[in-house]
This record gives sequence, C-alpha cells and structure tokens, in this order.
Amino acid sequence: MKGHGPRSFLGALLSATLPLKEKTAQRRRFAVQAVFLALTLSIGYAFFVFVASIQEGGELSRRPPGVDGFLPISSLMSLRLWAASGEIHRAHPAGLFILLAIIAMSFVIGKSFCGWLCPFGFVSELLYRARKYFSPSFKRPAGWADYALSVLKYLILAFFTYIIFFAMNTAAVRSFLDGDYNKISDIRMFYFFARITPLAAFITGTLFLLTYFVPYFWCRYLCPYGALLGLFSLAGPVKIKRDAGACTNCGHCAEICPQAIPVNKTATVFSDECTSCALCLDVCPAPGALEMRLRGTALRIKTAALPPLVAFIFCLITGLAMLGGYWKSNISADDYRRLTAEYDSVDLAR
Ligand code: SF4
Ligand code: SF4
Repeated sequence: MKGHGPRSFLGALLSATLPLKEKTAQRRRFAVQAVFLALTLSIGYAFFVFVASIQEGGELSRRPPGVDGFLPISSLMSLRLWAASGEIHRAHPAGLFILLAIIAMSFVIGKSFCGWLCPFGFVSELLYRARKYFSPSFKRPAGWADYALSVLKYLILAFFTYIIFFAMNTAAVRSFLDGDYNKISDIRMFYFFARITPLAAFITGTLFLLTYFVPYFWCRYLCPYGALLGLFSLAGPVKIKRDAGACTNCGHCAEICPQAIPVNKTATVFSDECTSCALCLDVCPAPGALEMRLRGTALRIKTAALPPLVAFIFCLITGLAMLGGYWKSNISADDYRRLTAEYDSVDLAR
C-alpha cells in the first residue's frame, strides 16, 4: 500500500480515486459527475422532506419531480403509452422525459449518460479507481465469464421489453399508470431504502462489494438501462476512430479503458460497453491517432465539447418538458395522503 501515514495515505487514495492527475477534460467529467451526484442527493433529501410532511399530516412540502427518474418501470410504461397513443401520462411524467433525454444522449454520443451523469456509474468508477489503487494487478473475470455475465442485463431488458411492449396492450398500460401502485411507486421506492429489510440490505451490500471486486459489476452485468443505452449507442453517428497510420501501438488506450475495450486493436470502437468517458482519447500520445468523429465525415468532436454537449441534450429535453408543463406529476396531495396511509398500515403491520 502506498503512503506513510493517515494524511499521505488519504492524499494518495484521493489522487488515485479522483482523476486529478489526468487531463482537464477528465477533471471536467469528474466535476459533471460530482454535480449530478450532488443533485441526486439533494432530490433524495427533498423527497425525504416531502414524505415526512405526508406523515405529519399538515401541508405537503414540494415534491421534487426529478425523483421520477428513479422509477424505471413507470417511465418505460409511459414511453410505451406515448409511443402507442401520443399521450403523455401525467403520473410521474418527468421520468419519461429523463428517459428520453438519456436515450437521446446515448444515440448522439454513446453511453455518455453512464460515463458522465449516472450516480451509480460514478460510484462504480470511484470503486474501480480505489480497487486499482489497492490492487494494481487485479484481474478482471475471464473473457468467457465476462461475456456470459454481460448477457444478464440484456435478458433483464428483454423481460421488461416483452412485458411492457408486447404482452400488455395500451389499455393495460394506461390502467397501470392510472393505478394506485404507480401513483405511489415513488413512496415505495423511498421506503425500500428508508425501511430496508435485512434481505434487501444484504443484496445491496453484496452488489456494492461485488462492484468493488469486479469492476462495474452492476453497470456491466445487471443494469437494464445500461443495456438499452448500449443498443442506442451502437446505432449512433459518433464513434471513436483509430488511425492505424498515426498509431504507435503503445497500447495506453486499451490499458486505461475502464471497460476493457481493446481500443488499440480496432479501427472503430463499436462496443455497447463504451461509456464515451474519453479516457482513451485523453491518454493517447500520438497526434491524430485516436479521435471521436461523426461517422462518414472528417468532423472531429473534441473531448472539451463533450460536457456542454451532454448538458445541452439533457437540459434541452428536460427543459422542454418543464416549459410544456409536462414536468410535475398530477397526483394530488389527498391521493398521496390516502395511499401512503393505506400502504403504511399494511407495510408496518407485517
Ligand atoms: S473506449 Fe475509450 S471512451 Fe470508450 S469506455 Fe473505453 S476509454 Fe472510455
Ligand atoms: S494510445 Fe494512441 S498511439 Fe497508443 S495504441 Fe492507442 S491509439 Fe495507438
């Protein structure tokens, strides 16, 4: 272990965990990730205050609409309804627009949501960096095991896609969205963490540990959102290109890639695992050898342009939803009080 005391140990761990020694673009990415994590935590706190105001029985405090982004089933159902009928359901509509925003981001610049915004992706990256610090020579799962595990997230995605887009008709989807279960799905999600059961705590802790020992375990093997975004990213127009003439075959790009993509052996990075983190671009020492380009053109997208591009797409779609009046949920305060009381009476009696 590096360092000779608590201060130097912490300093070394911090500099290994945070990308401060890397290029400005990586520091910007880290800043964007940190801001988004802080935003997520502030939404969580505001929702905690909202739930407390329901339980106190007085006037409800403001519910943060961003919490809808953590309701994937509700958001996918809303997407299904919107695709089939053009209707934007008013229960948790922000979830639909957040989903559309991250799909658009993935199509335009790869799985950038995973590499730039997602709080779980950020925590996974910090754990990966900590793991590299403590065990620089750790080995990833063997190729066949990695491949087999990677399929899991597609199976989970296929299951939900089948249920929501094929097994249910539009009327059934609308009925789900109108129903009491969906109306307080945010409260249920909150209670999952606030009243965590021993089994749920064990599963959450295990996932956390696995993500430390196996890099990006959740993102790479289990996250159905990551699978969905990976598919959109493959279809997108922006790709990382390697010019074999300019490349010196130093291998730095493949070595630094957190997703273990053999960048140095390919002409175009075409991988559902690439998170557009730009680490390979930043580390490449050969001018012109590795660049992010618009497919079929010579247009180069500089890594410095990624933060504003990511922020622009996300803010454009969520901003349009706000301006159009499709951001706030229409579930009434009375519904929240009644349904939460009903849920509490069953949940606490268990
Ligand atoms: S290929 Fe490059 S941009 Fe993609 S994940 Fe690997 S290091 Fe990041
Ligand atoms: S870092 Fe650049 S020069 Fe080195 S192998 Fe990768 S593309 Fe080639």
